[in-house]
Amino acid sequence: MLCGCCGASYTLINKTRYGCSALRNKGEAVCRNRATISREAVEARVLGGLKDRLMHPDLVAAFVEEYRRAWNAAQAGAGAARDKLQRDLGLSRRRSPASSRRSRTECIIHR
Ligand SMILES: [Zn+2]
Repeated sequence: MLCGCCGASYTLINKTRYGCSALRNKGEAVCRNRATISREAVEARVLGGLKDRLMHPDLVAAFVEEYRRAWNAAQAGAGAARDKLQRDLGLSRRRSPASSRRSRTECIIHR
């Protein structure tokens, strides 16, 4: 935010208002712009502008498309991980010794 008269920055000149920093720091010899604006007014304008621009239909459509793409990639990764776990589980079952697959009754009989 710049001063329309001298181009210096508009900065907080007290707790609630923005004003020309050149006038404040260097005096009227540099700038005579005494116009100030409240912090609330600046924040409302900035936030309003951001809201209007960020909610533009083109940006929302781009966000939705990117979200869909990321979701599908995450789901594909989860599916691959599940498939690997199922394959590993199948190998593990095949490699288990027969004694570990005995029924509870068989275990009791063998004791
Ligand atoms: Zn100025």
